[in-house]
Amino acid sequence: MSDSQTLQWQALSRNHHLPPFTDYKALNAKGTRVITKASGVYLWDSEGHKILDAMAGLWCVNVGYGREELVEAATRQMRELPYYNLFFETSHPPAIALAKAIADVAPPGMNHVFFTGSGSEANDTVLRMVRHYWATKGMPGKKVVIGRWNGYHGSTVAGASLGGMKAMHGQGDGPIPGIEHIDQPYWFGEGGALDPEEFGVRVAQQLEQKILEVGEDKVAAFIAEPIQGAGGVIIPPASYWPKIREILARYDILFVADEVICGFGRTGEWFGSDYYGNAPDLMPIAKGMTSGYLPMGGVVVRDEVVQTLNEGGEFYHGFTYSGHPVAAAVALENIRILREEKIVERVKAKTAPYLQSRWQELAEHPLVGEARGVGMLGALELVKNKKTRERFAEPGVGMLCRQHCFQNGLVMRAVGDTMIISPPLVINEEEIDELIVKARRCLDATAADVK
Ligand code: PMP
Repeated sequence: MSDSQTLQWQALSRNHHLPPFTDYKALNAKGTRVITKASGVYLWDSEGHKILDAMAGLWCVNVGYGREELVEAATRQMRELPYYNLFFETSHPPAIALAKAIADVAPPGMNHVFFTGSGSEANDTVLRMVRHYWATKGMPGKKVVIGRWNGYHGSTVAGASLGGMKAMHGQGDGPIPGIEHIDQPYWFGEGGALDPEEFGVRVAQQLEQKILEVGEDKVAAFIAEPIQGAGGVIIPPASYWPKIREILARYDILFVADEVICGFGRTGEWFGSDYYGNAPDLMPIAKGMTSGYLPMGGVVVRDEVVQTLNEGGEFYHGFTYSGHPVAAAVALENIRILREEKIVERVKAKTAPYLQSRWQELAEHPLVGEARGVGMLGALELVKNKKTRERFAEPGVGMLCRQHCFQNGLVMRAVGDTMIISPPLVINEEEIDELIVKARRCLDATAADVK
């Protein structure tokens, strides 16, 4: 496509489009990047540049771009039944079959799914469902949900409130009442002089302190991502989840594992909860559920919770697009591909160990204070001083690096000065080599800039 075509797209976008998570004035001053096609792990922009997508879109294109089977599944379903709803005691085959397919891969004892249109809607559903659950059990006072600072659970009012992004709370008077937050298990950023394992135990203990402070009779649930994604691929110290499990076992509260990123193979297990040996009561899911080909989310619910919901009368909750038949048909086909091609198994046995060993080579770089990762997730902490973990005083080093990435044909995301990746699960060794070569080149270019 010609540059003039790109300029036209940019002008139209400037004049008519308000994109998500965007500083409008800043974007309008330069013009948006326009992505026009994709195949496998690669994107092409409107100027013909080929870009390795090390973020799988937004952590979602697990089976990679261009899978014809998903196109065909959607086409078939559109012809057969493009839409019907799940309200008023009706259903349709794709939603029913998908609920079963998810139960088959979910942790034991989680056999039911409530469908939503997105991860944010899944977390709104969580908030209403856990309160309805406790009210049904005769404990309507148990309403408070404990989340974590810098956790991400979506952009709707409930999602942003459950999340702990202070900048999001600052816009629109968040969080809503009834939500509390404890610290995140982010050793590199907040661990100070503590040993990582000791730090992991200390931040986990904040859960118990918070339950006692609020009162067990008022706490409905604790919500957390197994590994924080949007917060910067924050992988808890090994001591963290065992301590959290120990605390959860002492109190009668529900545990919600937000699997929107970790679900459907990202860690090399089907769910992040499998990876850590956690047993949640509810799991919000989205993204990798359809590999992002169509919007869809849901909440996977433990059998004991379902038994209570069964006694709760009508649950006044649901969406026009809950279990949308076309999205459900695509999700079903996506799960079939993940299972039959043994993609999750290959990630665990082969490609994730390879990615992680190559990713660690970047820890040697003068700009990198820590390289960490699990499965198909990775983070690099950009620092001024490798030994002291001191950050750069000037803001925007991460953004500078991200700019170099785009110029060098690589999508990495910047969260402050943390560079993160979450490539498609189908990325192969050769493509991983390319990712590492390009990442190193971008680190070099960033280092030259900040000298
Ligand atoms: N939870 C987590 C853990 C997420 O990462 C996200 C999206 N990045 C969401 C919820 C919200 O999902 P959506 O953008 O589909 O609403």
